[in-house]
Amino acid sequence: MTVHSIKNAVVIGGGPAGLTAALAISKRPEVTEVTVVDSDNLSGGPTPRNGAPQGYHAHVLLGRGYEEMVRHAPNLQSRLLSQGATNIDFNNDTRVLLQNGWVAVTKSGINTIVATRPLIEWAIRQEAKDNPKIRLLGSSEVHGIIQEGKSVRGIAIKSFGNQAQDLMCDLVVDASGRRSMASKWLSDGGFGEPEVEEIHLGVNYATRMYSIDKLKGKAWKVLAMNTIPPDMPRMGYLARVEGGKYIVSLGGVGKEAPPVDNEGFLKFARNLAHPAIYDAIKDAVPESGIHSFRFPGSRLYRYEKMADWPQNFVVVGDAYASSNPFYGQGMTMGALHASAIDSTLKRHNNGNSFSRTAQAEIAKATRFSWTLATGEDNRWLQVATPWMTKMVQGYINRILDTCPFSVGATVGFCKVLHMDANPSLLFTPKVVVPVVINSILRRKPSNIMPN
Ligand SMILES: Cc1cc2nc3c(=O)[nH]c(=O)nc-3n(C[C@H](O)[C@H](O)[C@H](O)COP(=O)(O)OP(=O)(O)OC[C@H]3O[C@@H](n4cnc5c(N)ncnc54)[C@H](O)[C@@H]3O)c2cc1C
Repeated sequence: MTVHSIKNAVVIGGGPAGLTAALAISKRPEVTEVTVVDSDNLSGGPTPRNGAPQGYHAHVLLGRGYEEMVRHAPNLQSRLLSQGATNIDFNNDTRVLLQNGWVAVTKSGINTIVATRPLIEWAIRQEAKDNPKIRLLGSSEVHGIIQEGKSVRGIAIKSFGNQAQDLMCDLVVDASGRRSMASKWLSDGGFGEPEVEEIHLGVNYATRMYSIDKLKGKAWKVLAMNTIPPDMPRMGYLARVEGGKYIVSLGGVGKEAPPVDNEGFLKFARNLAHPAIYDAIKDAVPESGIHSFRFPGSRLYRYEKMADWPQNFVVVGDAYASSNPFYGQGMTMGALHASAIDSTLKRHNNGNSFSRTAQAEIAKATRFSWTLATGEDNRWLQVATPWMTKMVQGYINRILDTCPFSVGATVGFCKVLHMDANPSLLFTPKVVVPVVINSILRRKPSNIMPN
């Protein structure tokens, strides 16, 4: 078996996961070149593009995701701020409505940025562009991997104009999102089929940009009304993004779908659990059409469990796991996967031992958020759950009930949700005591939104 170190890598997909992975790989001194290949042109500005149609819709970047992205793209914050994005302390600058009223407003130290997805992706892309080891190759569709025995040795691409080309390398990272062909390529290559975990709970989005003068000077930057099973199948999200505009995404679970005509969109907003978003947009100036999106369901390929796994190949981001976007985890997952590659490369810089270890680390980094998201999805589907899961869900419900009345419960819960803290924080006195007090007092929720 030949052992060779990874000097040049190819990343399939120039979305947030692919770009962050490329930046992480480029940090290794022995790496000389990382090529990011995408079917879209990668020289455009911060606007939605064909290969990432979700770019029209609101994207929350969790605290941990932002931190990990900045670790690999150190100038990310200044690039985003210079384009009009806003830094926020999540609990101080967001007003969140839960089943039992508005969550307590407090400084939590959960720091993140509010911007559109295209701007976040563009800013990471600029970091990649300015990196002398990274080459961006747009307008090139990858249609296969090149295999030599049990090793992946490169990719086959077709550029715009139908020119075919093989790109040889020491490592291929598949970050091609939901469109990934990795499972087919592996099966065709004789590696067998991965086990797939799927949750067939679709969700629907409709999104419009607005100018909203009356929100100028408000202390908050984001308004969020989440879905909560089993009674709240609708969500609404409004955020101040670059250019002083507001992005408004409305969403529904299963058959609930926000309409794409003005009247229907407003009516859906009016029927959310609180009228704050409707009040903000009813007489605001629309700055875009209404874009819709149907997310068909969550899916995770258990590549790490395959008996046979090729050398020099890893799968990251949505190509590995893609969960219900209502939980806002996708970009954070991609950043955590890049960090998993980074830490594995430090320990194993040879193609032979690297890829299986990296895929196992990627799986480990994903498990908590996947369990959380699919646990919530299963509540909509009324899937029978083990008693232990039911107990944890029951306790989380009690925490949500307590959030409007307790800073401790709010900060504890949000830190875990943003992956800034270990879930064991939920079982410390800071969270348990207010939950017990609230269960005894059974306080009535207030429908008044905090300023
Ligand atoms: C409506 C909606 C709302 C969402 N909201 C949030 C949110 O609030 N917060 C959050 O963190 N996440 C959210 N997500 C999820 C988030 O968009 C994804 O998790 C994230 O974009 C995944 O990044 P990625 O780089 O893995 O894949 P993508 O961003 O999908 O990038 C894949 C890239 O691969 C390219 N590609 C695909 N196939 C090929 C090929 N064969 N050859 C060449 N190039 C190829 C595509 O052009 C694309 O550029 C949302 C998703 C949806 C649908």
